[in-house]
Amino acid sequence: MNIVMMGPPGAGKGTQAKYISERFVIPHISTGDMLREEMSAQSDLGKKVEEVIKSGKLVDDSLMIEIVKVRLSRPDVEKGFVLDGYPRTLSQAESLNELLRFLGKDVKYAVYVEVPKDVIIERLSSRRVCPKCGHIYNLISNPPKADGLCDVCHVPLVTREDDKPDVVKRRYDVYYEMTFPVIEYYRKRNVLFTIDGTLAVEKVKDMLLNILGDDN
Ligand SMILES: [Zn+2]
Repeated sequence: MNIVMMGPPGAGKGTQAKYISERFVIPHISTGDMLREEMSAQSDLGKKVEEVIKSGKLVDDSLMIEIVKVRLSRPDVEKGFVLDGYPRTLSQAESLNELLRFLGKDVKYAVYVEVPKDVIIERLSSRRVCPKCGHIYNLISNPPKADGLCDVCHVPLVTREDDKPDVVKRRYDVYYEMTFPVIEYYRKRNVLFTIDGTLAVEKVKDMLLNILGDDN
């Protein structure tokens, strides 16, 4: 059961990927985790990543696919995996396809958690964080007990730079522009499953189980 999870920032795909991972006992593989693991293992690849990140650059496609290759060659992916945050571009999707073919695997489900831009903006811009303990609140779905104050630390909550409407709008547009060709790529290969990410988390889980359920 090889799964690719896609969705704009704030769509909740990380939460859903974690759920699939636990439900089907397959590893949840995120881009950030792969990079951190290689760096902390101080492998040759990890050292390269560290160098790139230290110099303030982004990890490029050819280095990234090397890291994905190492990760997907481990024995724990035998039953499957959930890839979260990769591929994000068409060229990454093509490299991944080539790699999987080499490994004798393929992507069976490409799940796209679809949430319209205005909903993402509303979701993220109502997010507040405590500057002291880092706890995240949501003024709509998970508000603090006292208006604007952390329940524990009683200090005023703040909006993170990444959650400001202008920044959210830009991140969404960048994501969509880069990833739309990936969505089309998987649609053409008949493995795309689109899920309405505006629904409640439990409902989204049910829909995922409907899609993946017969496989296990
Ligand atoms: Zn706090």
